[in-house]
Amino acid sequence: MIQVENLQHTFLIGKKGKEKRVPVLKGVNFEVKQGEIVAIVGKSGSGKSTLLQTLAGFMKSEQGSIKVNGQETAKLTETESAAFRLRQFGFIFQNFQLMPGLTAFENIELPLKLQGTSKAVRKEKVKKIMEKVGLAEVADHYPNELSGGQQQRVSIARALITNPPILLADEPTGSLDSETEQDILLLIQSLNREYGLTFVIITHDEEVATIAHRRFRMYDGELVKEDA
Ligand code: ADP
Ligand code: MG
Repeated sequence: MIQVENLQHTFLIGKKGKEKRVPVLKGVNFEVKQGEIVAIVGKSGSGKSTLLQTLAGFMKSEQGSIKVNGQETAKLTETESAAFRLRQFGFIFQNFQLMPGLTAFENIELPLKLQGTSKAVRKEKVKKIMEKVGLAEVADHYPNELSGGQQQRVSIARALITNPPILLADEPTGSLDSETEQDILLLIQSLNREYGLTFVIITHDEEVATIAHRRFRMYDGELVKEDA
């Protein structure tokens, strides 16, 4: 489903003319099969978010190849890349990134609205997914009226609502207490089992990695596969 070969990325840091080159991805190789939960575990600053950003096409890498569902993503134009990203990926972030002025229902509905889905279909789909992720009772709550765990459920529902085959999660439980973390991990596992959704989860948290079918470890820009 995803094949990454020799991916390299260097940031230029500092004042113009005096920039320092900081290699952050140093030839990363890995693959993700359909229906897998893959965890990329590593310390803060090891390059995990950079890897996810390049995977999603938010950032261009200067070397290497990324294939998603057979498509070499470097060959896409900016516009094609944005459309491709919307079709293939849902995103889950540590800080949820919900719209504060929209209710839980409206946050989840938003991607469908942007796609031009009719109101009746939107309502039906959002209702169904809210039940699935355990949010039926708080549909009309605003993000600041929800617990951290509930906010992350909203963000997961929003990521799923357009049916992307791959979910990319950057520290999905990083802002949650350990009990809520367990709830979210169980939800991710059940979505993976029931719908065959593919998850790539990056985390510094060993606990999160326990739900993965396969684990990779990131050390200072290099990725090492772990034995299952
Ligand atoms: P992680 O997600 O594992 O904590 P990141 O991928 O965020 O690591 O960062 C890896 C390294 O790249 C860090 O040293 C960070 O300072 C640097 N870095 C990240 N983003 C940028 C950027 N936009 N410009 C310059 N340096 C960056
Ligand atoms: Mg990060």
